[in-house]
Amino acid sequence: MSESVYLLDIEGTVCPISFVQETLFPYFSAKVPSLVKSSDDSIKSILAQFPQHGDPLALQTHIQSLVNNDVKDPVLKQLQGTVWTQGYTDGEIEAPVYKDAIEFMKRKQSIYIYSSGSVQAQKLLFGHVANPNNAGSNELSLDLNPLIKGYFDINTSGKKLESSSYQKIVSQIGVAADKVLFISDNIKELEAAEAAGVGTLLAVRPGNPPIQQNHGFRTIERFDTL
Ligand SMILES: [Mg+2]
Repeated sequence: MSESVYLLDIEGTVCPISFVQETLFPYFSAKVPSLVKSSDDSIKSILAQFPQHGDPLALQTHIQSLVNNDVKDPVLKQLQGTVWTQGYTDGEIEAPVYKDAIEFMKRKQSIYIYSSGSVQAQKLLFGHVANPNNAGSNELSLDLNPLIKGYFDINTSGKKLESSSYQKIVSQIGVAADKVLFISDNIKELEAAEAAGVGTLLAVRPGNPPIQQNHGFRTIERFDTL
């Protein structure tokens, strides 16, 4: 393999695809009833941007309906970001990055991340990784950020299904496209990367949706052999 730079997707590639839906969203939802009555100034200033902000119960209903309907509301995003940051910082949330992915990141020199989650969210996630050698213990979580050379998201680089996004990333990294190996669980993302001349590898992890046959991409189930 000639690639020397690794560009990694997150969900479905280095951590279970269920993490956002089954951990982050329920964590936020459970906090909503107390959030709407919060005396914290930073929370209150975010909530004040909702039209229902004078009435805690109406506000709670409104926030929950935005979540349930997956509405891309900027105030909601801001509120979720604040709640998750606090959750990670308090040790109530840890990211379940696969052990083989952690070891891979430690072993390789050039690791970059490209996710549709914001760069800020990526740094939070990799800054609070559950220690796979101490499952269930109170051992401090791992900070993998020192292993990562750069982060890309939709704001910095464009959408993951567009080939131009990968061209931008490659030029920002400053290497030839064929020196970059993009690993993702999403065939459409791999197609866009391939069109930009980037090497590709399809991650097949437990819990990922079934993939179409005859996709033509090399697949990988674990990163041990990379
Ligand atoms: Mg993915």
